[in-house]
Amino acid sequence: MKTKVIKIQDENFNSLDQAVDLLAQGQLVAFPTETVYGLGADGLNPQAVEKIFLAKGRPQDNPLILHVSDFKMLEDLTRGDLTRARILADRFWPGPMTLVLKKSDLVPGIISGGLDTVAIRLPSNKIAQELIRRLGRPIAAPSANISGRPSPTDASTTLEDLDGKIPLLVDGGPTKVGLESTVIDLSVDQPLILRPGGITLEMLREVFPEADIDLGLLSPDQAPKSPGQKYKHYAPKAEAYMIRGSLLGKVNKLTDFIRENPDKKIGLMASSQLSDIFSNSNLEVEDLGPWEDLDQVASMIFKGLRDLDRKNVDIIIVEAFSEDGLGLAIMNRLKKSTANRYIGE
Ligand code: AMP
Ligand code: MG
Repeated sequence: MKTKVIKIQDENFNSLDQAVDLLAQGQLVAFPTETVYGLGADGLNPQAVEKIFLAKGRPQDNPLILHVSDFKMLEDLTRGDLTRARILADRFWPGPMTLVLKKSDLVPGIISGGLDTVAIRLPSNKIAQELIRRLGRPIAAPSANISGRPSPTDASTTLEDLDGKIPLLVDGGPTKVGLESTVIDLSVDQPLILRPGGITLEMLREVFPEADIDLGLLSPDQAPKSPGQKYKHYAPKAEAYMIRGSLLGKVNKLTDFIRENPDKKIGLMASSQLSDIFSNSNLEVEDLGPWEDLDQVASMIFKGLRDLDRKNVDIIIVEAFSEDGLGLAIMNRLKKSTANRYIGE
């Protein structure tokens, strides 16, 4: 199969017709959302959704998010009281927030991985919204990468993983947030974050003070409630490790590591503060931005991992960040990319 790429510029959506036609015929289309690129299929067509699992190599028990273009679409896909969902939707939608709710019979079993709940999001990206609105049905769209790899934040990275496997890719430029949505479980009494993302625990607690983070995300002895969280994820091809401590401590650990590994090509992905110190070294350096600007850091980490893989480094060292605010989502991804390993300790 040849993958066609269409580029959308200046909100000129005329050429989206072919994307909508393919989706209506049960084919796959990759497209941008504000978080990462998604691999889309008609969410109410089980045969189409099955193609997502095949193209990504995704385990069947990892449920998919349905993307909607308005709250009415969500109502048809769910049952039960929607009071809390409406409050969060008013505040954070369209945007990087996914709500887990009791599902209606309209939702195919393959979407929910056999659970009696469904995950739903209303994206803010205009191309994504336009596709859903024109299709008139929810679009199932996990990240458009081969399962286990870092999520793609631009069209060329999406093509790296899916070229020849899908008929169409919509190129809408690089994504803004760069990390996947926050998944919030509203199917239980206490709102729980099942996957941290752009909408932080602090932001959620402004609305529901009792909200918390799924313990399974924090403790190694407890299974996470979101099936996806148990899988190997976001892994670069190179061996990856984190580094932590004071700035001076990190510089010393890294200097030792470089000395102990003279034959290895090493990549460093770090804040500007740490990157600057190694800018004239032999390292391949990916500057994530100033460490106080977590929005920028978040938007750069998947791109950084992919860029270092393209440079064929043997080892990637990633700076660890504090887990406050958006730092929780950043560290959730980095811990998975590195299998929670640190150098120098
Ligand atoms: P992805 O779209 O690949 O970024 O992943 C979607 C995430 O949402 C995965 O971590 C899934 O396990 C999670 N998810 C989807 N549906 C549900 C659900 N019904 N209950 C809990 N987690 C879900
Ligand atoms: Mg994913």
